[in-house]
Amino acid sequence: MKLLEGKNVIITGASRGIGMGIAQAFAEHGANVAFTYSSSEAPALQLERELSAIGVKAKAYKSNAASFEQSEELITKVLKDFGGIDVLINNAGITKDNLLMRMGEADFDTVIEINLKSVFNMTKAVQRTMLKQRKGSIINMSSVVGVKGNAGQANYAASKAGMIGFTKSVALELGSRNIRCNAIAPGFIETEMTDKLDEKVVQGWRDGIPLKRGGKPEDVANACLFLASDLSGYITGQVLNVDGGMLT
Ligand code: NAP
Repeated sequence: MKLLEGKNVIITGASRGIGMGIAQAFAEHGANVAFTYSSSEAPALQLERELSAIGVKAKAYKSNAASFEQSEELITKVLKDFGGIDVLINNAGITKDNLLMRMGEADFDTVIEINLKSVFNMTKAVQRTMLKQRKGSIINMSSVVGVKGNAGQANYAASKAGMIGFTKSVALELGSRNIRCNAIAPGFIETEMTDKLDEKVVQGWRDGIPLKRGGKPEDVANACLFLASDLSGYITGQVLNVDGGMLT
């Protein structure tokens, strides 16, 4: 059964990692996929070709999610190209880790702008369309770190915790119009973002995971499929942990 046949979705930051995994899973389930990148043009265009070969409409857009103006322009273009937006996935994110003692102001501001302000930019830009349709699903990619904190990631944890407050508020505001808003809190997922971590730190994380393995982008993509589709039609304002039991 295809869960998203003919639905139009937009995913921020899908040139690799979790975003790419979501784009692939959604296309396999019949969705037309608009997605963004900020600098990785070659892999983004490669993904556009790969998704189109599945037989759905797919298009890559260069757009900085931290920019309010670029987000508005992006949604205008996507609406012109695709004719509507049923699902928004706010996935773009970065890390700039350091202990608070060594964290500079720019490292704090950049992480908040790209991870959290972007969610405001994109949600604000799509809400008019979803309000008119009286239907929509918004999924925000938070993190277990936003729930429990993490030494060396005060900026990242603050951005991811902020996304949860934003998610719950939007769910309350837009629920009466049949627009759902949920967050996903991935644990340790093997992507370029986690490749940067020290192997000893990674092993420590793995040891603490009840399922004894790191997650794959497909694990997160499957949770997104559920939250994007009508299977989760009575679920809003929730945080779904996809973490192998890490927070249990
Ligand atoms: P990743 O491999 O580093 O990929 C990040 C993606 O975001 C790339 O496609 C990147 O494209 C894009 N991006 C970065 N800055 C952007 C901007 N300003 N505007 C638009 N796109 C931008 O990261 P990932 O591991 O897949 O993580 C995806 C999301 O899941 C992030 O929000 C992350 O915080 C969250 N998450 C990840 C894990 C994990 O263990 N991996 C755990 C919890 C939560 P460019 O290369 O073009 O910049």
